[in-house]
Amino acid sequence: MSIQSNLNTIKTSLPEHVTLVAVSKTKPVPDLMEAYNAGQRIFGENKIQEMVDKYDEMPKDIQWHMIGHVQSNKVKFMAPFVTLIHGVDSLKLLEQINKHALKNNRSIDCLLQIYIAEEESKFGLDENELNELLSSPEFKEMKNIRILGLMGMATFTEDQNQIKKEFTHLKSIFDSLKHINGYGKNALECVSTISMGMSGDYKLAIECGSTMVRIGSSIFGGR
Ligand SMILES: *Cc1c(COP(=O)(O)O)cnc(C)c1O
Repeated sequence: MSIQSNLNTIKTSLPEHVTLVAVSKTKPVPDLMEAYNAGQRIFGENKIQEMVDKYDEMPKDIQWHMIGHVQSNKVKFMAPFVTLIHGVDSLKLLEQINKHALKNNRSIDCLLQIYIAEEESKFGLDENELNELLSSPEFKEMKNIRILGLMGMATFTEDQNQIKKEFTHLKSIFDSLKHINGYGKNALECVSTISMGMSGDYKLAIECGSTMVRIGSSIFGGR
């Protein structure tokens, strides 16, 4: 199957309120261009240097999403152009993003990554850490970031009930966030996005309330 037909199959299966991030990590520019020429404009990468290289080479109407774990000292390289950073998991990182957004005279949209899996290897905040972050004075001072919502990754397992439980957990944290008033913070006014679901589990994720799916191998083939 071609990239174009994979993309079309997936796009027609998505409800209108769900945004597709085409995860193009490790794939060469001609593969991304095939998706671009088929109409795809949102691409997800998990390494900053790779995303910067592709940004330099490719059309400028692409929206670049950073979906991987971000090291604070590399934020500056993507700050001029990144559209959405999915994997924000600490106040320290948020401070760096805010600082470099300011330097570039812009605001950068972020998702806070929540730890929902039963795997040590996955990153993210737990509910307490999330609340601590959102209620910290440092967070309230940040003027150049917007928190659009949450991101999570389920455990890598065949057990659909387990995955469903984890997605439902993320959705419930998301719903509680939308009802928070006490933070009184501009950065939280735009909470609307819940990024969950990959090639293997995006249909289940959508059933559980996802509004943004990150799909790689089902579009571009295995890595
Ligand atoms: C690689 C990756 C994806 C896409 O995975 P596929 O199984 O290829 O669809 C989604 N989210 C994150 C954070 C990733 O690193």
